[in-house]
Amino acid sequence: MQIIRKKYNWASPLFKRNKTNRIILHHAQAKTCSVEDIHQWHLKKGWSGIGYHFLVRKDGTIYQGRPEDTIGAHAKGANHDSIGICAEGDFMKEEMNPLQLNALIDLVSYIKNKYHLSSIKRHKDVASTDCPGTHFPFSTIISSNHIVLEDTWLQRLNQEIKKQGFRTYPTVKRDAQGKITRLIQERLNFVGFNLKIDGIFGINTEKAVKKFQNNRNLKVDGIVGKKTWSYLIKGIKV
Ligand SMILES: [Zn+2]
Repeated sequence: MQIIRKKYNWASPLFKRNKTNRIILHHAQAKTCSVEDIHQWHLKKGWSGIGYHFLVRKDGTIYQGRPEDTIGAHAKGANHDSIGICAEGDFMKEEMNPLQLNALIDLVSYIKNKYHLSSIKRHKDVASTDCPGTHFPFSTIISSNHIVLEDTWLQRLNQEIKKQGFRTYPTVKRDAQGKITRLIQERLNFVGFNLKIDGIFGINTEKAVKKFQNNRNLKVDGIVGKKTWSYLIKGIKV
């Protein structure tokens, strides 16, 4: 499971949370939204910024909002001891797709196991609201437990990019060699390929990149450029 980490500009200081006793689940009440959108909405309310600790998007990607160890702003009276997880969508009106549900179960299981929690609540269990909506698959979530580890690939990639002095993800193609190629191979294997991880961008790596691109309707050129990087970062198996 990969959590996409983000940096935000906070309008006021955040405070560390001393206790973590429960998870509180929300919906965004918006059909489509990113963490940046929510950050802006919460800034407009006069808050420090995004109030949820995590957002699970409809494509199954998981984003960090407010840092995990700080007090959130998502459930009045319950913020001091909880982690707030929001699901993109409006589950008063729609059903959750399997990609998003699976990612949400991964994240809830991960947090539950990390903090040894058993208490998982909906926003409406602690406040007068209909959040996270009547179609929210709460019973499936609380009865599921996935054994998941956090995937640190993106953090390792970003460290390597920085170390090598790049300001953005470099274009990587045939005959490249080194740690970044190795990370690309690792990622391709993560989404289902079976490459030898040797840090050499040879014919097999190029073939895998082409197949990866083809499966995602990207331009099939075997070159890891901007678009291919963004799909590798998402790390979703298709
Ligand atoms: Zn809510």
